[in-house]
Amino acid sequence: MELYSTLSRTVEPLETLHPGRVALFVCGPTVYDYSHLGHARTYVVFDVLAKYLRWTGKEVFYLQNITDVDDKIINRAKEDGISQSTLARRFEAEYLRDMKSLGIDAVSYYARATTHIPEIIGQVRRLIEKEVAYVTESGVYFNLDTFEHNGELSGQERALRVSRVTDATKHNPLDFALWKLGEYGEYTWDSPWGRGRPGWHIEDTAISEKYFGQQYDIHGGGLDLIFPHHEAEIAQMESLEGKHPMVRYWVHTGFLTVKGEKMSKSLGNFITIRDALKAWNKDVLRYFILLSHYRSPLQATDDGLANAAKGLDHIRAIATQDKGADAEGRKAFVKAMESDLNTPMALAAIQKLAGSGDLEALRGYGEILGINFLKETSAPLSVLHEIRAELRAQKQFAVADLIRERMVAAGITIADKPL
Ligand code: AMP
Repeated sequence: MELYSTLSRTVEPLETLHPGRVALFVCGPTVYDYSHLGHARTYVVFDVLAKYLRWTGKEVFYLQNITDVDDKIINRAKEDGISQSTLARRFEAEYLRDMKSLGIDAVSYYARATTHIPEIIGQVRRLIEKEVAYVTESGVYFNLDTFEHNGELSGQERALRVSRVTDATKHNPLDFALWKLGEYGEYTWDSPWGRGRPGWHIEDTAISEKYFGQQYDIHGGGLDLIFPHHEAEIAQMESLEGKHPMVRYWVHTGFLTVKGEKMSKSLGNFITIRDALKAWNKDVLRYFILLSHYRSPLQATDDGLANAAKGLDHIRAIATQDKGADAEGRKAFVKAMESDLNTPMALAAIQKLAGSGDLEALRGYGEILGINFLKETSAPLSVLHEIRAELRAQKQFAVADLIRERMVAAGITIADKPL
């Protein structure tokens, strides 16, 4: 397979450190609110990448962190009058539920920042011992002047940017926090430098070092994370023992946009995954996401989603009769996936396979893409619909809604009429 790496700015053949095995780390969510379609885009892409690599016979360990200690969590918990852990656990569960509803199930292990505090403190301590980090009255900071590869991933002029923490005691305004001293309520820990909490960047390298070591294969995330987050990760990890590069394949997804702007919580232009799933089932959402290449921006519009639904319906309508293997169509699908995960081309191959009646390929490739390309067999479905209608008539809405949620997650559209 070939993958584009932000580090080399070229498409490169995927050569992993251990042949046949792939260590994949993707930045997980900050769990303070519901996830939106922008998150869905990024996580669907990496779900497909992991599933495809597994389909080719590779053993993939897909690790994702959960950021459960953060300013946004502290502030939101204060606003809601609940503890930080109550808030974080709640939205972690909501995130996992949304991922399940979208058919995202390729992650091998989710690692919370708050359950890796000893690893985080250990890494900060080693960075101080290496003399690449220093302690001030406000915290521990990484000294970027010590790191020769700084800026290589983003290609950014360092002087153009300043880190978010401004502190007169920092040697260089670009230096970022590894440990923030202070009392932050429930999520505050003792450390050799005083009570405090971790900086944002250190949680990822402490977690990835624990499970993968200092070098691994693929690191993923959205484009917005390249600077400063991923640059900071590289500085931290590569300064431990000088192993370079920490990761060869940096894979970044383009933004899901609304009227040209990144969908984000702060801009208020977001649609939660949950709300989107009321209008479109997970097959349509995934099909819509995969119709664009993962590095291109993807404009979220009702028309785009409606067209995706139509396209998927068309595939299901023509793929009815099993006519055996279509070697050309299969080759086209694999070639597309091998070419930097070119899912729009892969979906064109799917259309061809539908036309030629290669139902076995549609079933198998459907599992890689997480999309059901074949018509449902209707008998068991109508039974479920009947049971739901009966439950609703008896006002047992919670159970009826649970069945609906599971059916939608399985890609089955349900339009309830008012009772
Ligand atoms: P966050 O919880 O904001 O840290 O985001 C989690 C992941 O979702 C990161 O990899 C982000 O880059 C990604 N992400 C957030 N918003 C979008 C968007 N509008 N389009 C694509 N990816 C996004």
